[in-house]
Amino acid sequence: MATSNNLPASGIRVIVVGAGFAGLTAAIECHRKGHSVLLLESFPELKLLGDIISFAPNSGKIFERWPGVDAKLDPIIHKSDGLLYKTYLGENLFKQTWTAEERAYGKAYNGHRGEIHEIVYQHALDIGVDIRLGHKVEDYFETETEAGVIANGERFVADVVLAADGVRSKGRTIVLGYEDKPKSSGYAIWRCWFDSAELAKDPDTAWMVNDGDKHCAWLGPDIHFIAASVKNGKDFSWVCTHKDDADIEESWQFPAPLEDAQKALEGWDPVLQKILKATPSPLIDWKLVYRDPLPTWISPKRRTALIGDAAHPFLPTSIQGASQAMEDGATIAVCLTKSGKANVQEGIAAFEALRYERVRAAQKTGERTRKTWHKANWDEVRKNPESMKLKRESWLLGFDAELYAEEHYAATVALLKDPSNNVTAAREYNMPRMAELAASL
Ligand SMILES: Cc1cc2nc3c(=O)[nH]c(=O)nc-3n(C[C@H](O)[C@H](O)[C@H](O)COP(=O)(O)OP(=O)(O)OC[C@H]3O[C@@H](n4cnc5c(N)ncnc54)[C@H](O)[C@@H]3O)c2cc1C
Repeated sequence: MATSNNLPASGIRVIVVGAGFAGLTAAIECHRKGHSVLLLESFPELKLLGDIISFAPNSGKIFERWPGVDAKLDPIIHKSDGLLYKTYLGENLFKQTWTAEERAYGKAYNGHRGEIHEIVYQHALDIGVDIRLGHKVEDYFETETEAGVIANGERFVADVVLAADGVRSKGRTIVLGYEDKPKSSGYAIWRCWFDSAELAKDPDTAWMVNDGDKHCAWLGPDIHFIAASVKNGKDFSWVCTHKDDADIEESWQFPAPLEDAQKALEGWDPVLQKILKATPSPLIDWKLVYRDPLPTWISPKRRTALIGDAAHPFLPTSIQGASQAMEDGATIAVCLTKSGKANVQEGIAAFEALRYERVRAAQKTGERTRKTWHKANWDEVRKNPESMKLKRESWLLGFDAELYAEEHYAATVALLKDPSNNVTAAREYNMPRMAELAASL
């Protein structure tokens, strides 16, 4: 059975690079399992950065295992009963409700990235994780017997290093032996988060923010706009995925004038125009870059692993980037417990084999949703509006990463060790159940 808290010390030393959700989850889960953790983060201080982020029930389970965290998250998360789909002209298509999903898979946690991050970060500190801010990792190294990093000119050594350093990961270069350059995906997202007081005053927009949280998607040709109210309608956030070929780096910091969005959304639903009018300028303009799946997430000596976005960036339409990052953290902690200190290289190899095909399958769901939404034939959609709905599948959302790793570690390692097999066989063994996956594609 999973969920054991704070096991006796394993003697395994883990360095985690990056205090995003991948790094914090890995650190908390490794600490719970009795490994000794040092977390290095380049930010000199914690800031409430970002806007809306989604954690599906598969990662909600992980939060719920951390004492007191659900109670802190619950008041700040989005709580609508479903997502209303509209055409870009404002015609209602249908509402996809979540009640049955929550019953089947558990609770989702969607809210402000900075606010959720602060709670998780504080939990890591409360349980005693050693977190050092202002430590930018400049280099990685490993030998047969240990692995480590250089940060601020200081050398830190451990048994394993987990590079959770996000989409522009430096750890990736160590693991791959070359720099993996991103390509432009041809899309970007305008994003924002603001107080909903103005929207509450206008009868055309008040329905989005009065009487509890609401969630609404407007779908248009090669562009979509999703708005959500949060904290009983008090806060409001929208994101708009649109075509963009600008060749600049991905970043959460780039500003974009509101007029850019107003121009792209000209002629759309008058309600949406009012939302735009109430939106403060500038927006955040997040360029969506694309990377081919990495051939491996682990270093040649199997003491350094990439986790989270460093290993596998996601399209937002998968609504799984943060959840898969957390699943990585929960999985690696189990693998190290199973391997023990003498065999951490086995644990690192098993981690990758347990996760690789599942993550790829989850990434594909985002590609599929964007295609469905952006390339719709509107006459067909009006006849069958439910063709637009998000597929909410049990292989993805009903998954318990910790339990899965507990149950499948031994078989995965046996495949990795069998000379007649190889990494591919171990990865394929952990492919999400094919019948369900095929039905979903
Ligand atoms: C500032 C910020 C705001 C974001 N806002 C949103 C949002 O609003 N909505 C959304 O859906 N997603 C957002 N994301 C992305 C989202 O958090 C991730 O896609 C997802 O949670 C996976 O997390 P991760 O831990 O793998 O990567 P990240 O969240 O990117 O975390 C990586 C961490 O590593 C640190 N780091 C990087 N390089 C080094 C280094 N050399 N040494 C030490 N530390 C290093 C970074 O400072 C960062 O804290 C944001 C990410 C960041 C960094």
